Amino acid sequence: MRTMNLPLPGHAPGLQAALTVHRFGEAGARPRAYVQGALHADEIPGMLAAHHLRGRLERLEAEGRIRGEVVLVPFANPLGLSQRVLGGMVGRFDLADGANFNRHYPDLVETVAAAVAGRLTDDETRNRDVIRTALKDAVAASDATTPAEHLKRTLLSLAIDADIVLDLHCDSEAAMHLYTLTPQAEDFAPLAALLGCQAVLLATESGDEPFDEACSTPWLRLRERFPDKPIPLACLATTVELRGQADVSHELAAADAEALVAFLTLRGVIEGPAPTIPPARCEPTPLAGSEPLFAPLAGMVVFHRGVGERVAAGDMIAEIVCPETGAVAPVTTRSDGVLFARSASRFAHPGKRLGKIAGKDPTRAGKLLSP
Ligand SMILES: [Zn+2]
Repeated sequence: MRTMNLPLPGHAPGLQAALTVHRFGEAGARPRAYVQGALHADEIPGMLAAHHLRGRLERLEAEGRIRGEVVLVPFANPLGLSQRVLGGMVGRFDLADGANFNRHYPDLVETVAAAVAGRLTDDETRNRDVIRTALKDAVAASDATTPAEHLKRTLLSLAIDADIVLDLHCDSEAAMHLYTLTPQAEDFAPLAALLGCQAVLLATESGDEPFDEACSTPWLRLRERFPDKPIPLACLATTVELRGQADVSHELAAADAEALVAFLTLRGVIEGPAPTIPPARCEPTPLAGSEPLFAPLAGMVVFHRGVGERVAAGDMIAEIVCPETGAVAPVTTRSDGVLFARSASRFAHPGKRLGKIAGKDPTRAGKLLSP
């Protein structure tokens, strides 16, 4: 294991953060997997899974079983980790400007398209290499001024030319689930099964440029841009939601790390016998069919259904109880599907998102992710 500390500019003179990066296997070996934990900082399941994964990778490396290369960033957001307000951590948004740490990664497609135009041939492998180099150059040339922008650019520079990107998050309270691009559903089906995902949410573009899509969608869009040239989807990327924020234990993290190792073995990053893939616990559903539930008024939240439960249209998922008037408002779903996430807060202001149901029918358009 080789460890690097990449300095990031601080918010003020005398303050400097750094990103810790572990690398396993021979530099430049393929396939390369990039794994990061806790991009939203206070999402500890991914950080602990990364800790367990590190131990496993160190042992595998000692046994000479890292065939490709693994780049592991165990805590992807040192800026968010340092954000505290009155004793509570704020990891999802940059306190400086409210920006979500997992949104608005640079769109590299125009720059890369201009750089590779006229250089693509009928050789898919060569095109892949030309595009990878152009992507790396485009990240390096992208603008970064604020510490958060420097963080985003540094993370993207580590991941942009990987074959596989696993971005380990968690939800508030949740069943295991993952997000990926529709054309990559087959590739990630074994990972979803190994992790025991109860929802797999697919989109060709979810809006607002999250990290995983910043890595994967350029390939999809360059394919559309140059339809007569063979271009592979050379970066498989997913956002994995390792249950809820409080689902932190060595047992869960060790099992999650084992599932990641099995997937990396299946993909040839790690040497070993092909893992047994358990039966899938769910069918993929469109992200556009994921129904957010909203609180109709302010009040106490009393859930009637638990995460991972299958629900039917019309079911009451929660009640909002107004402590002032005693009014009780039911919160019902319009979808048949799995209640894959709930808010951990038991008080809601009007319009608060209370939960999400993975429905089969696309009912939404535009920006599909939570703010
Ligand atoms: Zn997250």
